[in-house]
Amino acid sequence: MFSIDNVRGMLIGTAVGDALGMPVECLSANEIHERFDRVTELMPHPKDERPAGTWTDDTQLTMVVMTSLAASQGLDLLDMSELHIDAFVESQGRGWGSSTITACNRLFNGADPLDSGKVGGAGDGTAMKAAPIGIYAYLDKGDEDTVLDISKQLAPMTHMDVRPVIGMATQALMAYWICKAVDKGEFPAHGPVMEELIQIALELEEEMGDISPHYEREKQHKENVFSHKLELVAAWLAGDEDEKALAASVGNGIYVNEAGPFALGMFLRYGQDFEQAVVRTVNMGGDTDTTAAMVGALAGTWCGKEAIPERLRDPIESVGPLSDLANGFFHSLYEPDQ
Ligand SMILES: [Mg+2]
Repeated sequence: MFSIDNVRGMLIGTAVGDALGMPVECLSANEIHERFDRVTELMPHPKDERPAGTWTDDTQLTMVVMTSLAASQGLDLLDMSELHIDAFVESQGRGWGSSTITACNRLFNGADPLDSGKVGGAGDGTAMKAAPIGIYAYLDKGDEDTVLDISKQLAPMTHMDVRPVIGMATQALMAYWICKAVDKGEFPAHGPVMEELIQIALELEEEMGDISPHYEREKQHKENVFSHKLELVAAWLAGDEDEKALAASVGNGIYVNEAGPFALGMFLRYGQDFEQAVVRTVNMGGDTDTTAAMVGALAGTWCGKEAIPERLRDPIESVGPLSDLANGFFHSLYEPDQ
């Protein structure tokens, strides 16, 4: 049965994936192999001062989303924007993406959160912080529409483009379905999950494709279309090629329509084993801290914090406060069935 340990697993899992990927962010799989052979342990950043276990924007913004959803008992865009501004002020060295920086600058200067998103911003900054939305919907006894409603409002606050909306919605839905799967004791089957995610992506492309005029132009190229990337993930999951083939067909760079589908595929193939899932993800290179943070969030929700190896979770920066936040989130939303 789903328990507080699954919520702790989501947040600590995010931080472990984030910190494992932090030292090799934006290196290719070959570069990682040449320099480190294989990344399996937390390491300091090779060029700057960050010690082993340091996390980045992925964990920081996941905490923001959790804090606001719990405090507001749902999405209050104004509260969410204020917590984003606070995090932005404290963000030194956390590796924030350009669209989130642009939007938070606008919010800081008084912009309306309905009008602050970077037009055409297509980075992975919405998907990286999405998992708590799914867990919120589950704990608050909501459904898929709860997840979609929040994603459709929250993603454009920083990224005014349909792809980051889909990126947030698909990652959050996956987290929501994992909570239900934990109750059933059955790991989510990739076939039906991918079929449903592709359908939802197609519907969102139809419904919100026009929020960015750039997207109307860019969608002429199939690689810019999120639903197409999900179809590639589904084909990979149905075959027997390794994750190099997934990275080659979908990509795993900083764009949400690469990192998002890549993380979903890696979770659905390897997510029953937390360590294997995040280590394989990091060693594929690309936007490693974010892809591994997203896989870590999903695999951590499935496995729970106790299934994360101690050598990976104990040295994580602020691991105590992360656990406290997860506990508070759970207790503010969970009501046992009568
Ligand atoms: Mg990051």
